Amino acid sequence: MLSQQLTGALLRDPVAVQSSDLETIRALPNPPLTNLAPEDIYVRRCRLACDAIDSRGGRFRREDMPRLLEMVQGAPVLIGHDKRSLGVARFFGGEVEQRGEVRWIVPKFYFPRAHSGSEDLKVMIDSGVYTEASIAFLYEKPTCSICGEDLRSCPHWPGRSYDNRTCHFWYDGIQRVTEGSLVYRGAAPGTGFELLEDESHADERTPQQDATAKTLRLKRGGRVYLASLRPLK
Ligand SMILES: [Zn+2]
Repeated sequence: MLSQQLTGALLRDPVAVQSSDLETIRALPNPPLTNLAPEDIYVRRCRLACDAIDSRGGRFRREDMPRLLEMVQGAPVLIGHDKRSLGVARFFGGEVEQRGEVRWIVPKFYFPRAHSGSEDLKVMIDSGVYTEASIAFLYEKPTCSICGEDLRSCPHWPGRSYDNRTCHFWYDGIQRVTEGSLVYRGAAPGTGFELLEDESHADERTPQQDATAKTLRLKRGGRVYLASLRPLK
């Protein structure tokens, strides 16, 4: 099993709480213990993940997007992937949306107004300090787009060209969305697939070596990333 974190954008258009939102929230696994009213919660939305090739060379399959949105239901919203703290909000509902060539999952999330930190959270989101959301998920296999084999054992490298086809890999066997986080800036390193450094430091350090890891060198937007792809321990 591999873990990965990817970044999407918070949407700051005003969101009025609908009664259908409350019905969706009540239908979540482990629903609220109290009978929430619209005035009890804030609701926001975010473009959490899409089916374009991401900065690590990975890509969701278009047909997996509805299932991915399904797996987001009830997942906690954390701040900055800090798993030592409890969630500040919870994902529910939302939809799969086509925007241009790209298909996004756009879940909603709610947080209770009565919490002592909720006004702070709302202000940070609405003022654009927290601008991005990041999804963390577990999947089984990075499938090479060139040969269809497991990327960890095939000869191809994401971002390189083979007969005019640029290699990427598919997130296959998605098992679980562990959480989504509010982040002020994306590209937080994933547990299993880490961005280690930019070009200016690339020669000074070497990525951690691991017998089972495949180290990838990715070039994106003029920056070089070294990424180590290895199974979770
Ligand atoms: Zn391959």
